Order: sequence, then C-alpha cells, then structure tokens
Amino acid sequence: MTTALVDPTAVPRQREADLLASVPTGLLIGGQWRDASDGGTFDVHDPATGEVLATLASATSEDAIAALDEADAAQASWARSAPRERAEILRRAFDLVTERAEDFALLMTLEMGKPLAESRGEVTYGAEFLRWFSEETVRDYGRYLTTPEGKNKILVQHKPVGPCLLITPWNFPLAMATRKVAPAIAAGCTMVLKPAKLTPLTSQLFAQTMIEAGLPAGVLNVVSSSSASGISGPLLKDTRLRKVSFTGSTPVGKRLMADAAQNVLRTSMELGGNAPFIVFEDADLDQAVEGAMAAKMRNMGEACTAANRFLVHESKAEEFTAKFAAAMGALATGRGTDPATQVGPLIDAGARDDVHALVTAALAAGATAVTGGSPVAGAGYFYRPTVLGNVPNDAEILRQEIFGPVAPVTTFATEEEAIRLANASEYGLASYVYSRDFNRLLRVAEQIEFGMVGFNAGIISNAAAPFGGVKHSGLGREGGSEGIAEYTTTQYIGISDP
Ligand code: NAD
Repeated sequence: MTTALVDPTAVPRQREADLLASVPTGLLIGGQWRDASDGGTFDVHDPATGEVLATLASATSEDAIAALDEADAAQASWARSAPRERAEILRRAFDLVTERAEDFALLMTLEMGKPLAESRGEVTYGAEFLRWFSEETVRDYGRYLTTPEGKNKILVQHKPVGPCLLITPWNFPLAMATRKVAPAIAAGCTMVLKPAKLTPLTSQLFAQTMIEAGLPAGVLNVVSSSSASGISGPLLKDTRLRKVSFTGSTPVGKRLMADAAQNVLRTSMELGGNAPFIVFEDADLDQAVEGAMAAKMRNMGEACTAANRFLVHESKAEEFTAKFAAAMGALATGRGTDPATQVGPLIDAGARDDVHALVTAALAAGATAVTGGSPVAGAGYFYRPTVLGNVPNDAEILRQEIFGPVAPVTTFATEEEAIRLANASEYGLASYVYSRDFNRLLRVAEQIEFGMVGFNAGIISNAAAPFGGVKHSGLGREGGSEGIAEYTTTQYIGISDP
C-alpha cells in the first residue's frame, strides 16, 4: 500500500496540479498552519518555465518570534522525552518520506528544476538522515570515570543545546532540511526552520510529514518568507535562541556568524566550496571521466561539492578533456519532468548570467570552449554543459564557485604542484583525487586542506559520514556520529566520593 498524496497514474500536468494543491501554504507555528501576521504572501516559480507554482504565506519578524515562542515553550518537555520516542518519530518519518518518494521528487523537480531521476536520488539521500539519526538517537553516550587522583568521580553528559534556527539553501530542498532537522530531533532540540524562498515547497510538505510521524507541536516550526534577514535578524537577537545552523553562501554565513556572536550562539556553517578534481597520470581515465561527470553534473553543477576545477596531469589532459567533452556534449537539456532530460535549468536568470559571465571571462583570458559555452535560447534558465580547455591557472573561474554545468580544465606537472594548486583557494569543502596508487592518494589526503576527499569517487555524500569543510567553507559537521554532537552541549558533574 502506498500513502502517496497524489494519484501516480494521473496525467502529468494534472498530477503536478494535485501535488501542488496538497502542499500546505501557511506558516507552521506551534503545530498549526497559519497565515502571516500581516497577510503577506510570496510566489514560488518553476525555473524551467517561469510559471508560478504556488503562493505561500510570507513570515514577518513577528511570526518568527511567535515561532520561537513555541519552540521555547516546547523545549523543556521535548528535552525530557525518551530517546526511543524521538527515534521512533524519526523512523516513521523515514518510512513516510520513502513511501511518498515520488511526490517529494516531483515537487523538487518542479520548484528547483533538477531532473526527476536526480530528485529521486535526493529523496533517498535526504530520507537516510531520518533513518540514520533515528538509530543515533539511542546511542548518544556520556562517560563516568574516576579522577586521575583516584578520589572522586567525573560524570559527563550531553544535553540538547536548546531552540535552534535552521536556515537552508535552495539547491537540495529536502536533504538540507533533513540533514539539520533529524539530528536536532535526535538530540532533543526544538527548532525554527527557514527554507530558501526559491524552494520552500519541499520543506512545507516535509513539515506536514513530520507532524504525521507524530512530532509534538512546537518542536518544528516553519517560517517560509520572502525576507530572510527579517527572520534571522530578530531571532539571532533573542536570548532564548541557542544555536544557528546555516547552509548557504559564504558571505551570508559570515554575516550570520557576526550576528550570532552577539548572543555567543553555537553555530554550524555549511558554506561554499571550490572543489578540485585531480587526475594523476596513473589514473584510470575512463573511471575519472565517469567520476568527473558525477562530481560536476549532479544538480546541474549547483552543488557545494561540485567539482569546480579539473587539475589534470599534463600528459593526460588532452585525452581526458576530449573524453569528458564528448560525454558532456551528449547530455540532453530540458524540463526536469521529461524522462529524457539529463540536465535541468539553473535556478534563475541571475544564476545563468553569472555562469555565462565567468565563461566569457575565461574565454577572453585564453581558454577554449571544447563543448558548450553559451546559454540555451528560449524559456527557462538553461545553460549548455560546457568544458573549457587550456584555462590559465590565474583565471577567475578557478577562484569562484561556478554553480553551473561548466568544467574548466587546467594542468599540472608534479604531485607537489597539484597539491599547491588544489590548496590555492579560500574554500576547503570537497575534493576529488584519481590515481591507481593508494599510497599517493593517502599522501595527497594528508596535505590537502579540505574537509572531504573522494578517492576515485565522484560522489561522496552519505548520511553516515561527517559532511563539512575547513577555511571559508565553514564550521561543524553534518551526518555521521558527529552530526548529533552539533546539537548537544556537554555538562560535567563532579562527584565527591562518599
Ligand atoms: P544563500 O546564502 O543565498 O542562501 C541560503 C539561505 O540563507 C536561504 O534560506 C536564504 O534565504 C538565506 N539568507 C540569504 N540571505 C540571508 C540573510 N541576510 N540573513 C539570513 N538568511 C539569509 O545561498 P543559496 O544561493 O541559497 O545556496 C547556494 C550556496 O549554498 C552556495 O554557496 C553553496 O555552496 C552553498 N551550499 C553549501 C552546502 C554545504 O553543505 N556546505 C550545501 C549546499 C549549498
């Protein structure tokens, strides 16, 4: 039996309309869906067509505070709830999201643009955080030990950090929400979730699913809004808030950290990336091209983990570039709902224009477009899958997050140079290294300044692994056993011997 919200056999456009009609449009505050305090709304668009998909309530600062009132009121009893109870809510949520996978996938494709096959992949990945943290909930250990002096005891326990503000980006509408909400629930925190205004529909449906899974009122509050700072501003000033977890761009992350400092808040910052993809002369080139396609084209390149710079040994650059360009040039671009589509639109016109400006500047600096190099004319914000060869090492496109289907290829001569070029970035999130020599892979991992390294692997995200970066890519880790620690605080109790 399926609990899908919408008849999966309906004709596609009718099914889209039915699904959109099933998404709550209000603010979730204290377990109730309500209108914004000033009656304000905002529209959500389909990036493949520019059409309006839905109109949602737009939370005001007053609504944000009302959401925190509820989170604060629910915090004490939620902190005392049995870990098993929280685990079971998360497990039911995993089952419900999995049963409704087709609805979540279609909704993400509609509001974000990615092809349906990728949206299905995100449902699997995103739901896994619910299952993983349901299992972690009952395994958050403290410790008890005798002092080194042999007298008295030390007891260490974890407690929920308290009400959290969770801010998510538009590129992975489900996974970025589950990656924060699930560990917060596991730890016993209450929360206010502010989804990206471009893709809030998935979070709205996810919140409804959490209620159906049995989450008590007030634990998860959702304040979708057209004004991000109108929500974060007053919440970060309120001393009842104890943590902010943010995924998004580095400039916004820095601003939030500065604001969070006023209340000495715990912060988790999952920020931008500029992933190097290093191909050594002893790599399996076909495997490297396959990995390059995955690391570059997942989400049309709109991923913080997207390979942003292809550093290829000079003896293999020509062959790698030719194979890579052939694979990129063969991809079909179109609306994500079309089963033939492999590359969807970029999120909006500004994103497409930014990508094109980087490509144009790289070409002017001496790079060559081996394939692609221009936007697709017509409706929607499509950009041709692009491979740029002979990119000079000082080109701007190698320094900035591209966030589009564009792969600049540059070369190196020695292992030392590859490491130096890879590290020549303010970012340090994901990196990829291709070689058949395991000792070399370990040597590179040792010296590379990145939070995550893929060895002959183009996709490394996994709910069981600690995801996060160093340098300007952020602070903290999501997923793995580290993920829950972001939402707990440590209390030490000194016990004198009887
Ligand atoms: P963004 O920084 O523009 O927005 C992210 C979120 O912050 C959105 O909800 C937005 O509404 C909100 N926001 C924007 N301005 C704000 C302000 N002044 N105050 C409070 N909130 C504000 O980023 P984006 O364009 O949505 O996402 C793309 C960026 O996210 C890229 O840089 C990408 O690398 C990064 N990202 C990082 C990770 C990671 O895990 N490290 C994952 C996905 C995306």
